[in-house]
Amino acid sequence: MTPEARPTTPYRPLDITIPFPELAAHARTATLLHPRRGTPTAADSSVGGPLLWPADEAWPVCGTAHGRVYGVRPERARRYERMVEAAYARPRPADAEGLPYTEAELAELAEMSDAGYQPDRHDGSPLPLLAVAQFYARDIPDLAPFAPPGTDLLQVLWCPFTGHDDAPDGDYGPSTRLVWRQAAEVTERLRDQPEPPIVERKHFLPNPCVLSPERVVDYPFGDYLPKELDERIQAWEDAFTERAGDAAPLYQYDLSLAPGWKIGGWDSWHRTDLVRVFCGECATEMRLLLTIDSGGGAPSWLPYDEAARTWDGTTPPSLYGPTGISASRDEYRAFTCPTNPTHPHRMSSQ
Ligand SMILES: [Zn+2]
Ligand SMILES: [Zn+2]
Repeated sequence: MTPEARPTTPYRPLDITIPFPELAAHARTATLLHPRRGTPTAADSSVGGPLLWPADEAWPVCGTAHGRVYGVRPERARRYERMVEAAYARPRPADAEGLPYTEAELAELAEMSDAGYQPDRHDGSPLPLLAVAQFYARDIPDLAPFAPPGTDLLQVLWCPFTGHDDAPDGDYGPSTRLVWRQAAEVTERLRDQPEPPIVERKHFLPNPCVLSPERVVDYPFGDYLPKELDERIQAWEDAFTERAGDAAPLYQYDLSLAPGWKIGGWDSWHRTDLVRVFCGECATEMRLLLTIDSGGGAPSWLPYDEAARTWDGTTPPSLYGPTGISASRDEYRAFTCPTNPTHPHRMSSQ
């Protein structure tokens, strides 16, 4: 990726700390990750790439008896994606109806759709966890404050099934595992990385993506602010909208919280009211570490590379962005304990 092609986001339409200087005290930096399809190695920060995992360390498994017994085999999900991508890449008349699949592909696609959305059976045996992402502190400035002493690499794995009894908050998404380690201690890397033979939903399976970290500043979701400040911001926003209509930027969507995959920053509660997240061990209020985003976000945040990309019909439109991940609703977030990083993390979705 050339430097000029690196994804970055536009400046905010206005700096909210000019009308509200007191917001500066609530600012947090966040690192937007901007995952884009690529071929990451274990030496790279990535989503969906190989993990730097020690050859002599057991790969984690989920032993929960999952209530759901059907899913899809990763190779079947990937085969489907490859057929769609190949068909999009073939020349076709502008007025063509449908995609130019070969006869053999059409037969295979018919077999796949006859088999249904979750065509494969899960026999209930323990599942190797699925590697989701890894983040090196050297690449991501906002990671270091979360890293336990002596670690510089965060690895994220999940069991690709929902409905775990031990899911914090009884959440909607897969059961996540966070592993912190020191990269330099991995002298011999596991080469043959295990993968679960079945996933509940294909949107739990990441496409390999490289990252282009960009540092931004987040301001809190309104309910986190002192009530009188939140009310003044709302009144300012109402007056702005009265004058400018749809052109008026909104605090929540344009001026405070960066959408997308990110490390650090503030958490949105746009689907519900604020639910503060506390540590299950020591009751300290937890802090947002990782946001896994299912795509979307206000147009003002659209990264330049995506805004510049005119769709020429040769690649399939991506529903959930380059990672292909939709883990819960809009966002699936990991919170960690600021007083003791060994306390279990919690997930929440919005
Ligand atoms: Zn599981
Ligand atoms: Zn704690």
